[in-house]
This record gives sequence, structure tokens and C-alpha cells, in this order.
Amino acid sequence: MVCSALPHQSDSDKNAAMFRFPAIALLLFFTACSGPADVHETRFIMGTLVEFTIIDDDRDRAESAIAAAAVEMQRIEDAFTIYGDQPNAVKLFNAAAPDTPVALPDEVSQLLTLALKVQQQSGGAFDPSLGGLNLLWGFSGDDAPSSPPPTRAIEDAMPPKHCIEHHGNQWIRTDRRCLLDFGAIAKGYAIDRGIAVLQQHGIRNALINGGGDIRLIGSHGKRPWHIGIRHPRKKGGVIESLDLQGDVSIVTSGDYERFFIYHGKRYHHLINPETGWPATKAQSATVIAGSATLADAWSTALFIQGADGIKMQQEMHQKALLVDDQGKTYGSLVRSE
Ligand code: AMP
Ligand code: MG
Repeated sequence: MVCSALPHQSDSDKNAAMFRFPAIALLLFFTACSGPADVHETRFIMGTLVEFTIIDDDRDRAESAIAAAAVEMQRIEDAFTIYGDQPNAVKLFNAAAPDTPVALPDEVSQLLTLALKVQQQSGGAFDPSLGGLNLLWGFSGDDAPSSPPPTRAIEDAMPPKHCIEHHGNQWIRTDRRCLLDFGAIAKGYAIDRGIAVLQQHGIRNALINGGGDIRLIGSHGKRPWHIGIRHPRKKGGVIESLDLQGDVSIVTSGDYERFFIYHGKRYHHLINPETGWPATKAQSATVIAGSATLADAWSTALFIQGADGIKMQQEMHQKALLVDDQGKTYGSLVRSE
């Protein structure tokens, strides 16, 4: 939804598109006989279409690697989601009485520790304890909302700052309004795990795109991977495009992903922890970081911070692109004309 992995389109590609069937037949013949296959599969995981692309000369290996990666990513969704009826440790924590110590599985504990670190570093812009507010706004529920909740309900759902504490190997929520929500970081983590599984299967050139959360390894055949960052207002448009290779995680958070218009105003799923209302300083925020987990967390944080957050990205040596509420662009990913 946010970014997309774009196929390279040379002039000959554009011409070939006019003769799609012959071109595909030619491509299949070519890849079967003499080059690595471009294996592309899509699965519905974490509420979004996840695209897997692998360049490998062993198609069977690529397909079984994708199947295993998808299973692992689904496992992570199940472990971290606060939606649905299936129990998990995060839901148990959220249901525990305040000030009651709860043991969390190591994996949950580690991601929570990282989330709290990003919360602290971002000055509270990223906040993993907003579950109550997020449930109230309802953007990730079964029925898409069409109007904001009552102001009073928002005030009542606001958790106090720093309401999650770590005691030994147990965790405490200090307030009933404090509900864990990994929605802004777990998709990146799932993509990191998906890439790890692909690597365990011997895959060296791959890209996973979970609705704009991307991690890529290696290259796209003889070329770098070509990535388009979605334009936040031009449907189908691209605001920046990049050629990337090696091991790169690039994630965008945007106000076009889940939103409604009410009385002419846009309300979206990225909540300012200071106000309990959708953040107003940005249309989209893109971050390149050392892992998809970090890029996911920081793209959300940067979205809340707006252009003021760009300096922090520079200090952390993370590349970023911020489109502010007026459509103006900032950051190291802005192309200098
Ligand atoms: P993302 O699309 O990665 O930016 O994550 C958006 C999701 O993160 C939302 O659907 C909420 O579940 C959650 N969320 C919303 N606002 C925040 C925030 N300020 N800090 C952390 N998580 C948030
Ligand atoms: Mg995020």
C-alpha cells in the first residue's frame, strides 16, 4: 500500500508490454533454460497483501522458501496481534489487572524492549501502549470507521506516559488504559523473520513487501531492486524511486493507508500520543534503517514527529523522506534536482 517494488521498465520493456503474451512466453523459455527464475508470490498476512519476489535458479527451492517464510510471518502475526479471538501473550497481558506481574515469551519481551527504546528515543512519538486508543478509533477492526469517536471517549482511553514497566523477567502495566499494541513494529519484525527464513533456505536475492514495509537482499538479477515510494496524494503515483541492493529495509507510514473523511477532514490510523487524535504534521514518512523492525518503528515515529524529526534521523544515520501536511518534502531521500 505504501511503497511498491517496481519492475524495471526500459524502452524495450515498454514495447514488450504491448505484446504481453509473446513476451511472457519468451521470458519463461529464457528463464527455464538459461538464467535464475524470478519467482513472485503473494499472500494475505497481517491484514495486507505480502509480496515475495525471489531471484534463484532453483524454482522449487524458491517456492518452498516462500511457503516457509509465510508460515513464520503468520506465526508472528498470531503472536502479536491484539485483534481476533485467538488467545496470545499480548492479549493476556492487556487483560491482566494493573500492577500484576506478567511473564511474556522472550520474543515478545525483546520486541517490547525495542519498542520502549524507540518510544524513549523518539520523545514519546512512538508509543506501544496505545492499544486502547487504537481499538477505540477502530481502524484495524473488522468494520472501517466513518466518524471519530466522542472526545470524551478519547480522553478516557488515553494511557498515562510510561505505563509499562519491566521487573526482572516480568512486565507490568500500571494503568487499565495501558494496552500493548505492536501494530507499528510487528510487521517489520515479521518481514525480518521472513527474510531470515528465506536465507536459511539458501536464498540470496529476495524482496518481501508487506504493504509498503520492504526488506530486500542481494539484487534483482543483474540490476539493483527498483523501489518506488508511493505518492501520498496521487493515486498510483510515485514520489521517489530508488535503486537498492545488498541488505536494505525501507518502510513508509502514510495517512492514506487507513483513513476516512468526516466533514471534509481526513482521520487516519497514526495517532499522536499527546492528543489521542490522528497526527497532523505529515502525509507520509519513509525510513531506511538497519532492519525492517527498526524502519517500521521509526517510520511511524517520524510520521508523528513531522519535519522536526528529520534531524534525529540524520543523527541516527538513517535515511528518511518526510512529506509534511502541505506536501513539502524533507530528508536525505529527497532527490536534489
Ligand atoms: P504503521 O502503519 O507501521 O505506521 O503502524 C500503524 C499502527 O500502529 C496503527 O494501526 C496502530 O495499531 C499503531 N499506532 C498508531 N499510532 C501509533 C503511535 N503513535 N505509536 C505506536 N504505534 C501506533
Ligand atoms: Mg510502523
